[in-house]
Amino acid sequence: MRKGLLILISGPSGTGKGTVCDLLRKNHPEISYSISATTRQPRPGEQDGVNYYFYDKEKFRQMIDAGELLEWAEVYGNYYGTPKQKVLDRLNAGEDILLEIDTQGALNVMKAVPEGLFIFLLPPSLEELANRLKGRGTETEESLQRRLGAAVDEIKIAHNYRYVVVNDKVEAAEKAIAGIIEAEHHRTDLNEELLAGLQQWKENA
Ligand code: 5GP
Repeated sequence: MRKGLLILISGPSGTGKGTVCDLLRKNHPEISYSISATTRQPRPGEQDGVNYYFYDKEKFRQMIDAGELLEWAEVYGNYYGTPKQKVLDRLNAGEDILLEIDTQGALNVMKAVPEGLFIFLLPPSLEELANRLKGRGTETEESLQRRLGAAVDEIKIAHNYRYVVVNDKVEAAEKAIAGIIEAEHHRTDLNEELLAGLQQWKENA
């Protein structure tokens, strides 16, 4: 059995992580998705247990204290975190699991699960990033400038990731990521059982 792969996709706010991950999940239903916990309010159409687990700050702090989160971060005033047990269960069962999280949390996952697959999604340019953030219609001029400043800082640490993918067209970015995942499945460290089995066969022959 091949070991499961932790696939983490991160990048600055507005790069289109969510859209790319939605397409990846649609095309690859065999990859499980880690549903994050958050203290932010649900947006219209979002469901508890589907898009996020929506908790209040007290419950979220309890989860931190109980060591139930693989990582957590405060992102623009709200807490977000990855429930740990589901991720570990999937990996132990040989399944891949996808995390779509912010760049602070990503650094902590790199420490906890260094053998994971870390992909940084880049915008085609900062002008395009600004256009996308404006297109959301939710940003004030101040929050737009704050997010653009943060994006520049986040891009500076992109070299911590194994791969960078530019999200110019969603379909192309998803295709690139699917190709990376396919290649990573052939990593020797994920296929030790396969190698050991063949070695055993030779010894028994
Ligand atoms: P949104 O509120 O727009 O759904 O997400 C805001 C940001 O939080 C995005 O950058 C998203 O990737 C990030 N995020 C979502 N879930 C998690 C999580 O479990 N941990 C961390 N660190 N960030 C998360």
